Amino acid sequence: VSLSEVSAPASALSLRGVQHTFAANNVVKGIDLDIAQGEVVCLLGPSGCGKTTLLRIAAGLEVVQEGTVSLEGQAIAAPGKRHVPPEKRNVGLAFQDSALFPHLSVVENVTFGLKHLPTSQRRERALELLTQLGMADYVETYPHMLSGGQQQRVALARALAPTPKLMLLDEPFSSLDARLRDRIRDDTLHVLKKLGSATLLVTHDPEEAMFMADRIALMRDGKIIQTGTPRELYCAPVDPFVVTFFGEVNELEGVVQGGVVQTPVGAVDASWLPEGSAAQVMIRPEALRIKERDLPAEAHSHSHVVMAKLLGRTSLIHLCAHGVDGQEAHLHARVPGVFLPQEGQPIDIDLDHSQVFIFPR
Ligand code: ATP
Repeated sequence: VSLSEVSAPASALSLRGVQHTFAANNVVKGIDLDIAQGEVVCLLGPSGCGKTTLLRIAAGLEVVQEGTVSLEGQAIAAPGKRHVPPEKRNVGLAFQDSALFPHLSVVENVTFGLKHLPTSQRRERALELLTQLGMADYVETYPHMLSGGQQQRVALARALAPTPKLMLLDEPFSSLDARLRDRIRDDTLHVLKKLGSATLLVTHDPEEAMFMADRIALMRDGKIIQTGTPRELYCAPVDPFVVTFFGEVNELEGVVQGGVVQTPVGAVDASWLPEGSAAQVMIRPEALRIKERDLPAEAHSHSHVVMAKLLGRTSLIHLCAHGVDGQEAHLHARVPGVFLPQEGQPIDIDLDHSQVFIFPR
């Protein structure tokens, strides 16, 4: 036994080789995932990729067909061996459509899981969480009088109240309007970090995952494609799917020559790919930087504006770029602030290479 094995604390949640099939439909295909104590991990991926199923397996709402689920080093579910039921797992659950108890008031819903505390402390604890989640004015209200977003906040408070070691949250902010969502995300993250609960949060929203997560596990078609910090996934994506999942991207084709691929906006390093091979170049819109904004209309330039739109914090520029060798490409650039050049305006572009990715074709 090595020293590191002795000293490393057990993961709050550990999934090993987890597979799941509905009828003949294999929806979870061999997942390994660890969540450290106090860590927030987001399961991110397109609709139907198996996120909810994996969360339900961790919660004990689905029986494990293959693989193992462990909490703090204890195997609690493995096929044919044991299945600790959800209510015995000391896990907080909040789902997209978490039903509140209709006959209990908001505060009674939240105190429901606090039977282990003295009565005086139960209410105090519930009020504290409801206040943090912006529900202080609805303490004595009944669920049917609340909006979907308000119900979701009560469900969150109820899940958080017993300070479980592990929180499992499935799209917990989906019923909130955009403005409120930012605030509740912020408040929820604050509460999670204060309680030190390890958290597995399911979302299909890359921005939500980047905001909430210490680490993101990006899934596609029942598999985890990449696990890492938001920065690792955004800045060091392992394949084209990871790049496109985080937003619109310009895609170009090319051939590796002299260790680079030539594009109409410059050469891109491809020294790790075989000479002569086909490559896919992916350029994020923000990687196209406007080098010269005020070229005279008659200037010779490698690019010209096709269309410009102000989107608020950024301006979107559709441009046509002409390479030195007669290559032409239509590209989308995003630049900060207000920049609304005329159609046909020549502009000079350069590349922020940290937001350009190249993959074998
Ligand atoms: P979403 O973001 O849309 O909720 P998801 O990534 O959470 O999607 P899951 O809900 O895990 O995906 O579903 C994965 C696949 O399993 C889907 O094809 C779904 O139709 C199927 N599935 C889920 N639950 C069941 C079930 N109880 N019986 C049969 N098929 C199911």
